[in-house]
Amino acid sequence: MALRDQDKELGMHRPIGRRDFLNGVAIALGSSLAGGFLPDLECVAEGAEQFAQDKPGYYPPILTGMRGSHDGSFEVAHAARDGNFRSNAGSLINTGETYDLVIVGGGISGLAAAYFHRKQDPSARILILDNHDDFGGHAKRNEFRVGGRMLLANGGTVSIESPFPYSAEARSLLTELGIEPAKFEEKFDDGKVYKGLKSAYFFDKETFGTDRLVIGGPAPRGREGAVSWSEFLAKTPLSETVQKDIVRLQEAKADYLPGLSSDEKKDKLSRMSYKDFLLKLVKVDPGVIPFYQTRTHGLFGVGIDGVSALDCWGLRFPGFQGMNIAPGPYRRMGFTAMGEATPEKEPYHFHFPDGNASIARALIRKLIPDVAPGHTAEDIVTAEFDYSRLDRNNSAIRIRLSSTAVRVRHAGDPASAKEVEISYAREKRTYNVRAKGTVLACWNMMIPYLCAELPDIQKQALRYGAKVPFVYSVVAVKNWKAFHTLGIQRVSSPGMYHTGVGLDQPVSIGDYKCSQTPDEPILIRMTRTPCMPGLPERDQHRAGRGELLSTSFQTFERNIRDQLSRILSAGGFDPARDIEAITVNRWPHGYAYEYNPLWDPDWPDGLRPCDIARKRFGRIAIANSDAAAAAYTDQAIDQAYRAVRELA
Ligand SMILES: Cc1cc2nc3c(=O)[nH]c(=O)nc-3n(C[C@H](O)[C@H](O)[C@H](O)COP(=O)(O)OP(=O)(O)OC[C@H]3O[C@@H](n4cnc5c(N)ncnc54)[C@H](O)[C@@H]3O)c2cc1C
Repeated sequence: MALRDQDKELGMHRPIGRRDFLNGVAIALGSSLAGGFLPDLECVAEGAEQFAQDKPGYYPPILTGMRGSHDGSFEVAHAARDGNFRSNAGSLINTGETYDLVIVGGGISGLAAAYFHRKQDPSARILILDNHDDFGGHAKRNEFRVGGRMLLANGGTVSIESPFPYSAEARSLLTELGIEPAKFEEKFDDGKVYKGLKSAYFFDKETFGTDRLVIGGPAPRGREGAVSWSEFLAKTPLSETVQKDIVRLQEAKADYLPGLSSDEKKDKLSRMSYKDFLLKLVKVDPGVIPFYQTRTHGLFGVGIDGVSALDCWGLRFPGFQGMNIAPGPYRRMGFTAMGEATPEKEPYHFHFPDGNASIARALIRKLIPDVAPGHTAEDIVTAEFDYSRLDRNNSAIRIRLSSTAVRVRHAGDPASAKEVEISYAREKRTYNVRAKGTVLACWNMMIPYLCAELPDIQKQALRYGAKVPFVYSVVAVKNWKAFHTLGIQRVSSPGMYHTGVGLDQPVSIGDYKCSQTPDEPILIRMTRTPCMPGLPERDQHRAGRGELLSTSFQTFERNIRDQLSRILSAGGFDPARDIEAITVNRWPHGYAYEYNPLWDPDWPDGLRPCDIARKRFGRIAIANSDAAAAAYTDQAIDQAYRAVRELA
């Protein structure tokens, strides 16, 4: 079929919300930056500006199309990185503002820093700057209206769980916001809403030779509807040899490292990838690899070629069942990871319908109480936020969006200066504010470009990590009849553009009701991890980032429509008819980089790059989950707590 006809069939001509327009007002302020920020740098009289976020109707969660690191959010930072940002061109506009604290980065860490600082000093005046058009950092809210109904999704950070025990500070922050995940467990009603719907695999012709949907995966024996591995594999297009090797891998109780102690095995497994474990120790046919390759994408951002066999043992991947490795936590690059068969801590499934964006919203409502009505963790979900109240003159806490910090320096000698100057770019201009201290809760690798005065060794450490790129695509559809007809709720598609596809996890909380019947609109979640198998992990992330920034929304849209059509059309799905809106949450700088035993040295305690990178420098403290080299919400909060204490 000619591409044009194919596009028509997929519905590429259908008008879906793909532009950042709101109430008829273009709020894609970034595109003006993208168009020519640098040559246009100008100086205007202080106070003459009115910014998009202050205007009525400004409500970014409702925007669809390319979100996450949306156009306009990163160009200034990239110009600063490339040395093209002329911060001294023209004159800086001095706003005349002086704060107790300026925080760079309005993610969970930056917001938590404001919260902790206010607890310490209830009269403190705080300014938070963020380069995005919305607050929350990775904890972003996607809001859709389909058939008059509100549908919510997380644009990034979804769950409150962490492999680490929550610290007292992080736990009490949640408690003070009224969030008690274990208590909210019953609000997650997976079993009721999707009763009888199974998980499935989709084998695509490009990877596996033919397009085939196989419904129902192998489940542990004894579980209702369980099929054995051989029964399951017989339905797949995998060759007989591959099937036999998968059954052996899954079921044989073999010791592939005989003669070694449990600790010696752990050490060896920590230095080989799971892919090498499969090929070299289990000696499976190479045709087995595509079936498992992307299984580590969601947690690590790379395939099994980039994740140690020990980590895969920790995740209960197959192959270790006969190896007699002692269960329990194990040390992974300076922190303790959970091992196979370790009793899970607080195994709650609850998450807010918009993920941890509800935590960000709850924090902001605590800091600026009249920004939204209500006061509970239930009512935060549907509370209407008035963005024009985020940055008011008379407010002690101000949140300034679409504002990229470009320079942070002490006003004088860092050893004795009483103030810090923070310059930021916003809507074609550059502004200056002052503060008694600053918390940089932005990404580590940005900080050397902001703070020329930091010691070189610290700059080097800040640059070490490479954030992990991800895409969370969200597709609003008129109904989920096709899923119901096929009897599926989530599909693993290891060879396709998005490797995971599934119905939104059903959570009803407060006034928010998730879709209850197949006739109702719903959100489909799709995940993509751009990486380049075979390269060291950090290079894979850099390559993935490059790919993301050069992929158009149209390419995403075509891939999404094609993939949904191929998986669901047997159930009656028609992408041209059924898709109402698409949001691609693009995160070229996603998870904090976690050290990888395959490529990174095992630094002594206190000497990991993140330990050196987060050192306070004069009145500048450093937060963000990068500062912990651990991509979790509790770590972002803990780092905020530490940074605020360092400045106290
Ligand atoms: C797709 C995705 C899914 C995730 N899922 C989970 C999950 O389920 N559970 C979990 O615990 N964690 C998850 N994470 C990890 C997540 O990063 C952390 O949990 C947490 O949200 C990080 O918060 P943060 O404030 O440290 O960083 P961020 O959320 O990254 O916030 C930092 C902010 O600083 C801004 N910034 C950077 N430079 C500048 C500058 N120069 N000027 C102004 N602003 C700047 C950034 O743009 C960003 O908005 C996920 C991450 C991603 C990307």
